Amino acid sequence: MRWEDFRASDNVEDRRGEGGGGGFPGGGAGGLGIGTIVILCIIGWVTGINPAVLIGGAEQMMGGGRAPQEQVDPQTQERRRTKPTDESGRFAASILGNTEDVWKDLFPNQVGREYRPTGMVLYQGGTRSGCGSAQAAMGPFYCPLDKKVYLDTSFFKEMETKFGVKGDFAYAYVIAHEVGHHVQNELGILGKVQGRQQASSKVESNQLSVRVELMADCLAGVWAKNSNDRFNSLETGDIEEAMQAASAIGDDKLQKQSQGYAVPDSFTHGSSEQRMRWFMTGYRSGQTKSCDTFRAARN
Ligand SMILES: [Zn+2]
Repeated sequence: MRWEDFRASDNVEDRRGEGGGGGFPGGGAGGLGIGTIVILCIIGWVTGINPAVLIGGAEQMMGGGRAPQEQVDPQTQERRRTKPTDESGRFAASILGNTEDVWKDLFPNQVGREYRPTGMVLYQGGTRSGCGSAQAAMGPFYCPLDKKVYLDTSFFKEMETKFGVKGDFAYAYVIAHEVGHHVQNELGILGKVQGRQQASSKVESNQLSVRVELMADCLAGVWAKNSNDRFNSLETGDIEEAMQAASAIGDDKLQKQSQGYAVPDSFTHGSSEQRMRWFMTGYRSGQTKSCDTFRAARN
């Protein structure tokens, strides 16, 4: 992907180098496998349960839909606002900036309103989020309460070592997927789904989660298509990279890795095949409305 000329986003908070983020009992996720942790995390944000609670290193989840405000001194504030200069930091800020440029264009045309961009927190090890503690082992996630994507940039290394996925477009797809959750939040979809999940059985609730996740994949595809149309950003092999990522991090693969077999009812992210198919649906159409996984006869 040609990302070097993308506009770097102003909405990045760089908290790397601030230590472990303070106060994680047990200092991390202990003996859990990455697959389990990723799944927990995914369950976490969809159900609104703090993923850290699921993992067992908890802080408090805010109930009333208001994110806790962190007290930071002006100096720290200033440092966080300084644009990252390292490779992975610049990359994340550039991809985020590009999603802003693309979605700002698409929103008025495709959904009839202005796009308000998401924030992004880069951190190392652990930090606080509006949804509770963020820990590196959880993988990237979007917190709908403070409207920020949380990303430990070492996750990209992890994708390579744990899942055998590499390539800048594969990493960009992960960011675009999280931004997809923000788009869903802006459209009021996350709130509605969460309401429905509270009145659902576990199986139904998981099925709703899958639809949310596949929609985010589709929205990542919509971004990719429009980014390429406007910025000529894709290179040969990029789509294959994204497909490889989607295939490697489908729930069926993750579950097989972590427990040796797949349990469809507990899928919350969709199978590898579903994830690839929905990314391509968005990519081929470039249209937000093509991503209605709730209306689709087949997921
Ligand atoms: Zn997701």
